[in-house]
Amino acid sequence: MIYPQTFERLYIGPAGPPADTPEDSRTLEAIDQCVKHGWDTMEVAFVYQVHIGEKEAEKVAAHSKKLSFPLSAHGSYYINLAAKEPKKIGASRSRIVQAAVRIAQAGGHSVVFHSAFLMGRDSSAVTALVIEQLKKVEEELKAKGTKVWLRPELTGKPTQHGDVEELIKVCNKVETALPCIDWAHLYARTGGQFNSYEEWCAVLDRLARGIKNKNVLERMHMHLSGIEFGPRGEKRHIPLSTCELRYKELMQALKQAGVAGTLIVEAPEVCQLEDVDRIRTAWAGA
Ligand SMILES: [Zn+2]
Repeated sequence: MIYPQTFERLYIGPAGPPADTPEDSRTLEAIDQCVKHGWDTMEVAFVYQVHIGEKEAEKVAAHSKKLSFPLSAHGSYYINLAAKEPKKIGASRSRIVQAAVRIAQAGGHSVVFHSAFLMGRDSSAVTALVIEQLKKVEEELKAKGTKVWLRPELTGKPTQHGDVEELIKVCNKVETALPCIDWAHLYARTGGQFNSYEEWCAVLDRLARGIKNKNVLERMHMHLSGIEFGPRGEKRHIPLSTCELRYKELMQALKQAGVAGTLIVEAPEVCQLEDVDRIRTAWAGA
């Protein structure tokens, strides 16, 4: 159950609807608005709720297929697969399942989520818990016939589960898991490291060698934005123009490594139109 087989190129688009989408628009109109901008993917934000109904999902699936417009979803912010209370773990699993089922019905390829908080425990203990719970999520989705990639995200704070090595371990143990590589988070959680062509090439190489038998670089799902950080990692997303993240060099590293898949620009609303175009231009020129 490998979906999709691979992507033939890199698709770049926004998180949520384009900032100039008319208010009260639904996902179909948001897709059309992306197309008007010349953008070719979008991440649906199921972060507070799964806001697409079943019938709407069928229409979205037909529309996005016709346009060759890959869709992903960002799952709930309220997920902690390593919570101390079993009830919270169960609720976290079901939030992932709900988002996964609906984005799959909408023709989407991936559901993204922040797996867990370390809460003072060591990485390997929490990784084991995340793997155990994601296997249960996967089982439930298989039983429903839902085919979608589970995408634990590279998170923005060292107190959150989800650095590169943790993601590699999870992806090697959970059949339908592949990472969501958030380059801004990597930069923020390491206090401004990972800001050069060489460092990014090394990460891509590590992913390609570390994640076995999944052709990860041809099935990449990524996030990128300007970001402000402090000693505890991510603070907030900021415009690319005010951030020192060298996104043009990052695009060169992605191109050099033959990356295909989807890249979601998580820009603040005020600069979203500009920043998606900036990244698309940088990719085209890389
Ligand atoms: Zn995220």
